[in-house]
Amino acid sequence: MSTSIVLFRNNLRIHDNEALTRGLESSICYPIYIVDSHTNKPIGEASEVWLNHSLHSLNYDLDGRLAIYKGDSTRILIDLVKTLRVTSIYIDHAFEPDQSDRDRILLQDLKALGCRTCITYQRLLWDIESLTRDDGAPFTVFSPFFRKGCLRQELPPSPIPSPPLEHLSQSPNGLNIDEALPLSTHHWVSSICKDWDISEKGALDQWQTFLDIGLDNYKKGRNFPYSPHVSRLSPYIHFGQISIRKLFHDAHNYGKGQDRDHFISELAWREFSYYLLYHFPQLATKNLQHKYDQFPWGYNEALYSAWCYGKTGYPIVDAGMRQLYQTGYMHNRLRMLCASFLVKNLMIHWNYGEQWFWNCLFDADHANNAAGWQWVAGSGADAASYFRIFNPIIQGYKFDPIGDYTKAFLPELRSIPDEYLYEPWKAPHTVLQEAGILLGDTYPYPIVEFESTRDQATAEFEKLRAL
Ligand code: FAD
Repeated sequence: MSTSIVLFRNNLRIHDNEALTRGLESSICYPIYIVDSHTNKPIGEASEVWLNHSLHSLNYDLDGRLAIYKGDSTRILIDLVKTLRVTSIYIDHAFEPDQSDRDRILLQDLKALGCRTCITYQRLLWDIESLTRDDGAPFTVFSPFFRKGCLRQELPPSPIPSPPLEHLSQSPNGLNIDEALPLSTHHWVSSICKDWDISEKGALDQWQTFLDIGLDNYKKGRNFPYSPHVSRLSPYIHFGQISIRKLFHDAHNYGKGQDRDHFISELAWREFSYYLLYHFPQLATKNLQHKYDQFPWGYNEALYSAWCYGKTGYPIVDAGMRQLYQTGYMHNRLRMLCASFLVKNLMIHWNYGEQWFWNCLFDADHANNAAGWQWVAGSGADAASYFRIFNPIIQGYKFDPIGDYTKAFLPELRSIPDEYLYEPWKAPHTVLQEAGILLGDTYPYPIVEFESTRDQATAEFEKLRAL
């Protein structure tokens, strides 16, 4: 008789799940999740909330058979293998450096016990580990990585059907999900969840809606934070509640022209982040280009706190930061803009921003978050991005011209005329008075002056450029 364990990690779904499908070929199959307390980078608070809901939903989909454990995952797995006489374990490959180091040791320990470990590779579309430039060095620029690397490989495998679940069984001594991952009673928790259906079904429904109304015009529309032309699938993708192969093949089959190609290229940006993390395991903490160690980034508590809670006095930045805090998500353009403001106008080290995003984003992802921050800071793989200092006034007027997005998160500016929305300090006193705004009281004055801080940052970047 064969007995298997399927260890769920960032593949919390039934559809297109090779580890689950193969595990279910055994006579008995135990699905488990381990909340690992021995990790170097514990998940952030918002991710914990998402994970709690996802596990409840997955457990329901698995007919209540999911067993939850908490502690050192290696030790827990070894104990289960011994007590349940497990013959094989199915795990999806991890790219997080800490986890993949521990997986290597786990594999040896399991082999010594005579248990077969089957690693599946479904987190990404392409086999990124084999990709190099012609000279054997890793790619450091996205375009050649995508065109000369990914696109020259075969098409990613098609999704596989959902398996029948009759061989599932529940392993003993598991914890209650809320015991393993207690939810804070802070009102923030219920407020960030209210716009999301945190389940596999929620992911599939959201994807279908995006295919119906979002993918056409994605290339242009994705720049506008209030348009339906972004999928908002990033948390589901991060936790694997939707298969990345399904997204690729559906987009390929049902999308058209530039919009389809652009969407697939955004999926490839995610692959590029994982590629960078694979080659530079310290991506989340250390400048990829070492010369940026000399950049005079610092820290200022008051400025940082104003940034975190959306009180910088620059409406589009504040809208982005409040979207993050209120919904656990932030639109990509806002992520670039808010990150740029922190590192290039407030001159605060990107590490602080990475940590705030890590804590507040539902989609907080080791690779994507680190690569995004390094890209904006200019310290990352793209050597040219240092000179992009986003102007929050121009960006506001260009991408949210009538303020639908900004006013949704800044109700205190709802009545200001459009021409002053992104520079309320320029509005005549009577206009502010009529709109019920008292600068410095109902809405802050800008905490720094944009032009002078931009010039100062540019001068510092120029000094490094020569090195
Ligand atoms: P869509 O436009 O619908 O794209 C579909 C999917 O493609 C996304 O869900 C994502 O998986 C992938 N994708 C899209 N854009 C990017 C990108 N620029 N880089 C990598 N993958 C991309 N993304 C995360 O998933 N987790 C993070 O922690 C994260 N942190 C970021 C931090 C900063 C400073 C920046 C600039 C970007 C960060 N991103 C992160 C990338 C990007 O902003 C989000 O993936 C995107 O906004 C998610 O929204 P969406 O699902 O609606 O995107």
